[in-house]
Amino acid sequence: MSKILYLDYVALIIYALMIITFLLRNTRLIRKRAVFVLLIFLGFFATLYDICSIWIDNRGEGAIVLSYIINIGYLALRSLIPTFFCVYMVSATDTWHRLRNNRISLFLFVLPVAVEISLIFTSPITHFAFYINENGTYVRGPLIFILYIVGLYYLFIGIYYAARYYRLLGLSKFLPLISIVPTQLISLIVQYFRPTILCEMLASVLCLLLIMLTIEKPDSLLDRSTDLYNRTAFMDMLIRAEYTEKPLSVVFINITNYSALNSYLSFSNMNLLYKALAARLETVKTDLSVNPEVYNLTKGLFAAVFSNEEKPFANKYAFKILDALHREYPINNFSVSAPTTVCIVNLPDDMSNIDQVRLFIKDFVRSRFTGDVTHASMITKNKDYAIMADMDNILKDAIENDLFEVYYQPIYSVSEKRFNSAEALIRLNSKEHGFIRPDLFIPMAEESGLINKIGLIVFEKVCRFISSDEFKTLGIDYIEVNLSVVQCMDKDLTLKIAEIINKYGVKPSQINLEITETASTLEQKNMIMNIIKLNEMGFEFSLDDFGTGYSNMVRIASLPLNIIKLDRSFTWTENNPKLKLILENTIRLVKKMNMKIVVEGVETEEMLNSFIALDCDYIQGYYFSKPLPQNEFSDFIKRNKI
Ligand code: C2E
Ligand code: CA
Repeated sequence: MSKILYLDYVALIIYALMIITFLLRNTRLIRKRAVFVLLIFLGFFATLYDICSIWIDNRGEGAIVLSYIINIGYLALRSLIPTFFCVYMVSATDTWHRLRNNRISLFLFVLPVAVEISLIFTSPITHFAFYINENGTYVRGPLIFILYIVGLYYLFIGIYYAARYYRLLGLSKFLPLISIVPTQLISLIVQYFRPTILCEMLASVLCLLLIMLTIEKPDSLLDRSTDLYNRTAFMDMLIRAEYTEKPLSVVFINITNYSALNSYLSFSNMNLLYKALAARLETVKTDLSVNPEVYNLTKGLFAAVFSNEEKPFANKYAFKILDALHREYPINNFSVSAPTTVCIVNLPDDMSNIDQVRLFIKDFVRSRFTGDVTHASMITKNKDYAIMADMDNILKDAIENDLFEVYYQPIYSVSEKRFNSAEALIRLNSKEHGFIRPDLFIPMAEESGLINKIGLIVFEKVCRFISSDEFKTLGIDYIEVNLSVVQCMDKDLTLKIAEIINKYGVKPSQINLEITETASTLEQKNMIMNIIKLNEMGFEFSLDDFGTGYSNMVRIASLPLNIIKLDRSFTWTENNPKLKLILENTIRLVKKMNMKIVVEGVETEEMLNSFIALDCDYIQGYYFSKPLPQNEFSDFIKRNKI
């Protein structure tokens, strides 16, 4: 009874189409998916050999040697499929490093396939797996069952991997991967009952097709403008590395003037620049004969990832990159330069989880040109990424357990020659990490939105202090409370604030709200409404950190401000006469607009005198006092009362 080949033909066509799809993509993609592409090739040739062997069988001409060659090819390729499926599972979970380090596992991984292949290749002599009888017909040998057992063995290991790393894969990858089990089983059952229907190859190819469409989606890992791997691929890779504890060295490369280039180069020129950059990244790889995977993480940030073995080259690569990217780029009619900062991060030594890497990236894209290669170990010491990565929990815990404290920094009134006000500054003493600086946690609380709660906690503590009998004896006119931009965007802000002041019987005139220039420049309906409403309620506003950004006088004039706080950086004018001129004129302008001036960060008597000479109204800074806990602040004011 001759066998029906149609299903094999269909399988062959599908394999061919899959191969063509991959070949039409770029070579980088093929390398990244080498094992999968190899599986497709294996399947293709196994199907081809299957068809040939059946042709020969069906013709019954007794070409024994040819029959042996074809059947050895078929059996070898066919039995390598489960093995490579297993290899694919190890690659998909990125766990080669684990397998390599465990000699016993490696041995158990390689031994069965070695036995199987020897069995097949020695069969013309031993007849163990199969033989061709004198009629030229294929006959199963006594040990053929070993091939089935080995196939099942690899299938089982593959499934074990999928189950073990289920958390890494997720259901959307897990299901296509284990689809190989039912498809293989069904095909075996069909072939058992209807031996003439050859559906095994079709079952395999359908399973691979499913994996290709769901997991190995062509292009989903590539950035089209540079043909480098994209951010998704990078994050996927990091997640796998973290989960499987794979050590890596990542060279982060940041084009520091990216935003400027992006805004003044045309779209097509920017594309050309990006392509040129990517080409240089490739050239350095070739020059050094190293093979890191290079990712385009967007916005001028790239990452070259070195495996543990190639780690020693990361340093050399970093310096070469710095040099290569530094050179000018001829783009159409002009030449462009892209100053670059490079930083080497060793994982997991420098950062132990992905959140820390994310935070680092966020910081690193803002880094300025240094012309040097930095090491994350140097940065992370100053930047507590470990604390930052855990900040959400730290802040939630602090809110729940009332760990925030408010300190007060006295502000000196020059005309009255006394301390007439103070700035409320938040302090956090976490159980686990000790004192955490506000400039570390406030920006993160703003990002997560927790600042809304924290801001109100500060506000309430200040109101409680103002309503206390102690406060009434101090002669302090008002307290400055910082209001974050994020709080200003909350549409219920005024209601919440009104509720608190009513609860404590505090008058709005006893509080000055400090907003920053960002708040005044961000055109947000809620923000403007909040500022207007609070002003109508009787609150006055101070503009914090004046002089740090691009001060927009027109906008400032349109806000209900009564105090401008000059930032510390703006007050360092000693050695720069031009800056001093700006400062003098700004002070004059502000005063002409009927606003008062607070100078922040006054540390020395010399600074104090020069600002008094410049006719500034209020002075705040370490010269008088650091921010103090409430009771120490009270003592300080009592001591210094005139
Ligand atoms: P800021 O509003 O500019 O506060 C002034 C900062 O300068 C304070 O830092 C203060 O301790 C510090 N400072 C005061 N005098 C001197 C001086 O003479 N020399 C130097 N070098 N520094 C001085 P702090 O308390 O660490 O606060 C940092 C930032 O955290 C604040 O900057 C503010 O932006 C934010 N922040 C603090 N408390 C709150 C709060 O309750 N709510 C909000 N939204 N932000 C807050
Ligand atoms: Ca402030």
